[in-house]
Order: sequence, then C-alpha cells, then structure tokens
Amino acid sequence: MNVPEIFASNVFHDGVMKNSLPKEVYRSLRETVDEGKPLDTSIAGAVANAMKDWAVSKGATHYTHWFQPLTNLTAEKHDSFIEPDGDRVIMQLTGKRLIVGEPDASSFPSGGSRATSAARGYTAWDPTSPAFVKEGTLYIPTIFVSYTGETLDKKAPLLKSMTALDLQAKRLLKLFGIGCRKVATTVGPEQEYFLIDESVYEKRKDLMLTGRTLFGAPSVRGQELEDHYFGALKTRISEYMRDLDATLWSYGVFAKTKHNEVAPAQHELAPVFTTANVAVDANQLTMELMKKVAKRHGLVCLLHEKPFEGINGSGKHNNWSLSTDSGLNLLDPGENPESNTRFMLILACVIAAVDKYQGVLRASVASAGNDHRLGADEAPPAIISVYLGDQLGAIVDSIVMGREYVPKKAVPGSIGVPESPIFPIDTTDRNRTSPFAFTGNKFEFRMLGSQASVADPNIVLNTMAAQAFSDAYEALEGAKDFEGTCREYTAKLLKEHYRIIFNYNGYGPDWEAEAERRGLLNNKTTADAIPELLKRENIDLFVKQGVYTEKEVYARANIALENYTKTIRIEAKTMVEMVKRDIWPSVNAYLSALCSAIAAKRAVSEKLASDADMGMAEKVCSRNDALMKATEKLEKALREVPAGELLASQAMAHTIVPAMNEVRRIADELETLTASAYWPFPTYPDLLYSVK
Ligand code: ADP
Ligand code: MG
Repeated sequence: MNVPEIFASNVFHDGVMKNSLPKEVYRSLRETVDEGKPLDTSIAGAVANAMKDWAVSKGATHYTHWFQPLTNLTAEKHDSFIEPDGDRVIMQLTGKRLIVGEPDASSFPSGGSRATSAARGYTAWDPTSPAFVKEGTLYIPTIFVSYTGETLDKKAPLLKSMTALDLQAKRLLKLFGIGCRKVATTVGPEQEYFLIDESVYEKRKDLMLTGRTLFGAPSVRGQELEDHYFGALKTRISEYMRDLDATLWSYGVFAKTKHNEVAPAQHELAPVFTTANVAVDANQLTMELMKKVAKRHGLVCLLHEKPFEGINGSGKHNNWSLSTDSGLNLLDPGENPESNTRFMLILACVIAAVDKYQGVLRASVASAGNDHRLGADEAPPAIISVYLGDQLGAIVDSIVMGREYVPKKAVPGSIGVPESPIFPIDTTDRNRTSPFAFTGNKFEFRMLGSQASVADPNIVLNTMAAQAFSDAYEALEGAKDFEGTCREYTAKLLKEHYRIIFNYNGYGPDWEAEAERRGLLNNKTTADAIPELLKRENIDLFVKQGVYTEKEVYARANIALENYTKTIRIEAKTMVEMVKRDIWPSVNAYLSALCSAIAAKRAVSEKLASDADMGMAEKVCSRNDALMKATEKLEKALREVPAGELLASQAMAHTIVPAMNEVRRIADELETLTASAYWPFPTYPDLLYSVK
C-alpha cells in the first residue's frame, strides 16, 4: 500500500486546485479558506469547471450538495452533470450550481422555525472544507439554511462560532502584541465503536431498529478480565481496520491510531487533529464509512452510545485547542506556565466559560443514547468539571490561595531496565474520569456520544470561549500596567470559578454530593439538560456572538427534545413488539415442553416428576405472566404521554424509561431460566463474541 499516493486521491485538495485553477482564482479562493475573506463569486465559474473536470476524470457522473441537517447524519441529493447539447450531452457544472442548491427542505427537522408550507431551503458551498469524489459522485460540502435565512444545519453555526472565536481571540492577542491573520479551533475526535458479525445482528430486531440491545442478560464473561483493552487484533478485525484506514486516507481523513477498547467487540479510531470544520466533516465521513466498510467484511459497525448493558458504552473524546495561522497553540503552557501571563489568562478564560455555561455544554451532548453513559453508572458523570492535573492545578491553587508556587521539576524516568532509554516523565498524569480534562496542550471534552455529530460541542466551546475572550478584552484594554492588570484579572476569574475545578476521581460516590454543595449542575437526562439552553443568559450568549438567533436556539431545543421523545418511543414500541411476538411466545413454548416432560414423567411414575421440575415450571410461568403485565403497563404509559415537547420528554425520562427498565429486568431473568434452544434471538455471549 503506497499511502502517500492513496492519501487524498479522491479529494479536490490544495495541490489539485493549484494545478487546475488560473493563478488569480486560486489566490482568491485561498484567501477565503485561510483568512475567512468573503468568497468572490465571480471566481465560482472557474472553480466549478475545474472541479467538474477533475471529478469526471475520477469517474464521477453526478454531483451533490452534501449537508448536515439536524439529525446527526449527512444528507445528499445527486444531480448528474449532463446538459443537453442537441441530441447529445455535455458534462457541465456552472458556478451558480456550485454555490447554491435548493433541496426541498420540508421533511428535515426545523423545530418550528419553518412552516411545512414554506418548504424552501438552500444549500450554500463551504469552500473551507474540500470537495471529494465518492462512488461516482462529486460531494460539495455545504451549509443549509431556510428561505427566511434561519440555519437548518450544524455547519453554519459551527462556522459562525469559529468566526466569533477568531475575532475575539485576535483582539485579545493584539493586547499581548501578537498579530496574526487567523485563530482557528483545532479538533481531534477519538471515535469508539463496536463490531459484531452480520449473522447475529440480523436476528436482533432491537439492534436493527434502535441501534442498541433492549434485552440481554449479562454475559458470564464480560470485560472483567480487562483482556480486550489494547489486546492483539483478531485477523478479521485487523483486515477491517486496514481496509477502513485505506478508504479514509483516500478521502483525506487523517486516520492515525487504532486499537481494541475496554469492552469485548469494542474498538477505537483516532485521527490527527485538524481545523474544527474539516474535523467535523471528516468525522461524519468516518462514521459513514465505518458502517459501509464493515458490510464488505460481513460485519456490522454499531455506533450507538450503549449497544450493550453492563459493559462500557462508546463515546467520542473531543480534543479541542486554539491555534494561530503561524502555528502558535494558545493552550500550550510552555516550560513555565506560572510566568506565562498569556497562557494563564486564556486558561482562566476557558475555565470561567466552562463554569458559567456548564448547562449549555452539558446540553450540547445530550441525547437518548448518551443518557445511558452520562448520569448512569458509567462515566464521565453528567456533572461538568475541569481537570487540570498536578502542575496546573498547583499553579491555580497558588493563585487562588495567594501562595507562592514552587515548581515541580519533570524527573527523568528511571524504569530500572538498563537497555531502555531514559525519558522525561510528564509533569501531569491523565485523569480518565474527568469530563473536561487538560491534556498537555489541549482540552479533552469526554462527554460526547459516539454517534453524535462533533459539531454541537464545538459550537458551544467556541462560542463560550469567544465570549470569555471578549470579556477579558473589555477588562484589559487600555490598562496602564498591562501585566499587572492581566494577572489580577486572571486571579479574579480563577477565584470566581474555582468550584468547577476538580482534580480527583469523577466516578467516586462522594463527588455527586460535593458537586451539589458547590452548586454545580447535575442534569442526568436529556429531558432535564436541554431546557438549560433556554435560560436568558444562555440565549444571550449565542445571540451576542452571532451564532444563533433567539428563534434558532428555541428551534434547536425543540428538535433535541423531539428527537429524544421519538427515540425512546421507538425503543419502547420495539420492546413491546419483541415481548409479544418473540419472548412471550417462546417462553410459552418452553413452558409447554416443560409441562409435557413433567406429564411424561408422571405417566411413567408419579415419583419421577420432581420438585425441581415443578418449581422451574412455576417460576417460568409466573415470570412470563409478570413480563406481560409489565409490558401492558408500558403500553398504557405510552398511550398517556402528553403532547408538547417539554411535557412529552419529561414523561419519557421519568415514566417510560423506568417502565422499560422493568420490562427488561423481567425478560433478562427469563432468559436465564429458558432453555437456549427456545430463546428467540442471539444472547450477549453470541453477540459479543461473534467475531472469531
Ligand atoms: P491520547 O489522548 O489517546 O493519549 P493524544 O493525546 O496523542 O492521544 O491525542 C488524542 C487526540 O487528540 C488525537 O486525535 C490528536 O490528534 C488530538 N490532538 C492532539 N493535539 C491537538 C490539538 N492541539 N488540538 C486538537 N486536537 C489535538
Ligand atoms: Mg484521549
């Protein structure tokens, strides 16, 4: 495999543009991409033509405006390049067609921001993310807006948040005498996923309809031996990963790290970080291709946050940093962070923003699937806190307490193996339990769910950082003693927001009580997390930074709640169907076999039918009866769910989910009582160890 040759071979990348575009056109386009200058529409024709020629040379016959409606997935509608020319055709892509498209928008979620009768929506080219050819179609990344200009997607607000951050960060940096053309957010999302064999997947209605198992007694062997994490890859998995890497590379995705994760059948892929917008698009493509490539290998890729109860779920660690066009990472502490005024100010701004807008940050990762991780027995918890590590933690402590900071030197590691090289040990350990951890020169936000778009948390991170930078600028601009004022302001921020810093075990039982004492939010369900968005100060944040209008915030909150309610309703209905049509009849069949056996034994001799036989039959019979009763109770509760996004979501979280848990509890017990031959679908061991 010649990787440099494969890499980006399907992408209309910088090198191709440079070679195929007139010099002036290329220069103008680069200014838009690199510096955020408005696109000069007069160059669109030339770019479109070059793009089309290149795409056709790659075998493309169609093009599509590729966009990200509010569904976590991408959307596409393909048009061919053909244009009648007499009774023949020519291949054409005009500048206008490159720049705008008009898909019928009426069936995409809009959260009430667009009446169904007003179906018009527009897609508009995003030149900052490269176009590519996939399966015979040229994909043009676009934003998606309504006829009245409201954003209907995740890309437009992401780009707006990046612009806000760029503006505010540059202004702040100027006070430090640093001039730059652009400050960009960089993102590296680590993606977790499960792989199971196609043959077992197809026998599970719940996996097919909801992406997760709604039933399943725990496997006798789960993850307790801790032998899967970083374990040797099975050949079939390794072949899948190799194929996936090559595929992703061809689309210019920087796939870098791959390994087995903690749970059996769980794996991870991490890319090299890149600009937030490109990283989000790349992650959408990664999720899509993970599933497609799996099919080629007779596998199914599960991206749900909690495909299996009782073992780890999947998340997506969002590594986030800020960097200038000259390559200065604003979250790089350098050798002596304690005397790095700029770094300490930026750090304090981020800490303050996370504390102030913790509700918004929590809401940005809220979904029915992710509720099984956050706020359940699994980490990270639903409480937002910041982990700084030993070194920065000690510096911040010293500032807040007004003590002198005594630096701890990084010691050369002596591991007692003479053949092994000496290496410096980091001054900071990692803390896997923290939802928002400083990891060297970036923050790692660990609450994001595995199937969610990476856009949402980054929109929030960028927007709140922009606001904090803007506040800092207002406080520091024109200060006579800039250094002194800056230190004072940093100390003030750290003191005010000290409660958000937590350097210990976030999984510990004491943390919840401690967090409550500190007044931190702990919204365990989506139904409770989303309404935070509608608090006055949170709406103001988005409006002030030009990321969302008030109407758009309401629309997004509505969509998130609607989505949550719909997801749980589908799950509950699938459960009802599986009980009534699969589990209950199968258990009855087993019961009838059991009773026939007892009758047969009795026919031979009364003594042969033991207490054990009778006990088992009674147990199975009574549990199956209880299962049907619990299912009917769930059905009744479903019928009684009130209308309206807010009320419905509350009913889902606090009535339907507990009723589903009860159905599951009984069914899982029945599974352990029923003979394998009678159980209607593959069990946890069948699913988790399906790949040999
Ligand atoms: P791990 O956390 O698994 O030990 P790393 O810390 O090396 O691994 O990187 C994890 C992820 O963080 C990778 O996707 C990497 O590209 C990303 N990352 C590293 N530096 C930055 C940065 N400055 N901005 C954003 N993401 C980054
Ligand atoms: Mg990590």
